[in-house]
Amino acid sequence: MKSTRRQFMMTSAAGLASMGLASTASAQAMVAETDAQAIALGYNANSAKVDVAKFPKHKADQFCNNCALYTAKGADNGACSIFPGKLVAGQGWCNLWVKKA
Ligand code: SF4
Repeated sequence: MKSTRRQFMMTSAAGLASMGLASTASAQAMVAETDAQAIALGYNANSAKVDVAKFPKHKADQFCNNCALYTAKGADNGACSIFPGKLVAGQGWCNLWVKKA
């Protein structure tokens, strides 16, 4: 079967489009501070902005990236077993913070 230039271009375009969709689907979403669970746990992507009147356990040196439940994916964010399938900010905090051993 002889392949035409038009067939080649259409096949290439379809391949590139599917690669774009695949990379979008594999990117994990960040936990939104507006998620019901995030609100209940006082999660804030910026630890410095935690309402200490509401969450008196919070200390200024506590961040997701020094919490025992944080698994780094990169410098700025990582996975947390409390929020499966999503990423938390390395500089974030929630009321379940536990000192990393
Ligand atoms: S459990 Fe730890 S890593 Fe997970 S959101 Fe709370 S402070 Fe961040």
